[in-house]
Parts: sequence; C-alpha cells; structure tokens
Amino acid sequence: MFITFEGLDSSGKSTQAELTSRKLTDSGEKVVFLREPGGTRLGEQIRSILLDVNSNIEPVAEVFLFSAARAQLVREVIQPSLARGEIVICDRFVDSTTTYQGYGRGIPPGDIRAINRLAIDDILPDLTFFIDISLDEIEKRQRNAGKIIDRMERSGRKFFERTRNGYFELSRTEKRLHIINGERSPQKIFNEIWLIIQQEVHRTSVE
Ligand code: ADP
Repeated sequence: MFITFEGLDSSGKSTQAELTSRKLTDSGEKVVFLREPGGTRLGEQIRSILLDVNSNIEPVAEVFLFSAARAQLVREVIQPSLARGEIVICDRFVDSTTTYQGYGRGIPPGDIRAINRLAIDDILPDLTFFIDISLDEIEKRQRNAGKIIDRMERSGRKFFERTRNGYFELSRTEKRLHIINGERSPQKIFNEIWLIIQQEVHRTSVE
C-alpha cells in the first residue's frame, strides 16, 4: 500500500505521516517512511537547492527539479519497496506538483500532467490525505514555532491561496484524495485517518 500526505507547510502533514507510520509499524507492518523532495541521495541534493533562499529558480526549472527528485525516488525506492509488499508512506508526492507548480506558479495543466506522468511511472498512491488548515492558522503556527522560512515558504499569501484551492480542485476528480480538517488536535485528526486506512485495507482484502 502506498499512502501520501499533502497540504501546505505547517498544516501538520509530517505529524500525521509519523503517527501513521508508527501505528502501522506497531501493527507489525514493514513501513518505508519518505519525504519529498528527498528520500534518495540525489533527491536530498535537489532538496537543498530547492529550499535554499539564495537559489534563483524559474517556475519551469522548479517543476523539473521537483520531478527529477520524484523520478529517482519512484524508481530507486518506492517501486522496489511496494514490490516487496511493504507499506510506503510519503510526506508529499505528485499532487504537490499539480497544486504548487500548476495552480500556484501557473504552469499549464497539460504540461504538469505530462511531466507528472513521466516522473511517477504509473505509481499513484492508494490513499492521499490532504491536511487542510487556513492560511491564518498557518501564519499563527509559524510565528509560534519561530520557524525559519525556506524559499518555497516565501512565495506569498496569494500563491498559497491558489495552491490550497488546487487541492480542493484535485479532490473533485481524485477519489483517493481525502480532505482532512487539520484544525483539530493531532489525535482527533489521526483517528479519522486511521479509520480511512482500515476501510481501505478492508476494501482491498475483499476485492
Ligand atoms: P508540516 O509537515 O505540514 O509542515 P508539521 O507536522 O511539521 O507540519 O507541523 C507544523 C507545526 O504545527 C509544528 O510545530 C507542529 O507541532 C504543529 N502541529 C502539528 N499538528 C498540529 C495540530 N493538529 N494542531 C496544532 N498544531 C499542530
């Protein structure tokens, strides 16, 4: 099974991805926990370029960098892990490119679809959790945590409004994508996620 977590930065994605990973591991599953961009040596190198506030990156160059990291991760780690029957959990995946580089940066949808298809080699998640919180709540969390803001996070409020809207648009066509209200306690959010995972496990085992 392949599970991904999506949402804007500071929405609580990583917190939920970690809770899911721990619970599945405790249930005796072999879990591979990954983050994008990253998860491979090449991916981590690309990550440092993408997040560096001193990097000057054109939107088209940005989409190729994220996709290059993803293409490597799919082939080097995700495909072999799934083939061994392991559960793969990824903090961000292909939907981030559709929303951030497509809706956010304005790369045309047809181009995004073509690049995504090439990068993922038909590997799509079984389940995707979009952890949604308001932009005001994000700003509050970042202030409270005294967070150092990376290059992507400096893209401005309008950019994040378009990106967030992109996730809602995507959820209309992608049945695997579940919108999760992220403005609740981590445990409440996780209970909802765990229920959906159990339903998916049940659905696939009776098919
Ligand atoms: P992301 O991976 O989306 O950037 P994190 O999981 O790292 O988000 O969480 C961002 C910040 O918000 C952290 O300081 C974390 O402790 C806090 N946080 C996570 N989940 C919640 C929640 N449900 N309610 C309030 N704060 C949260």
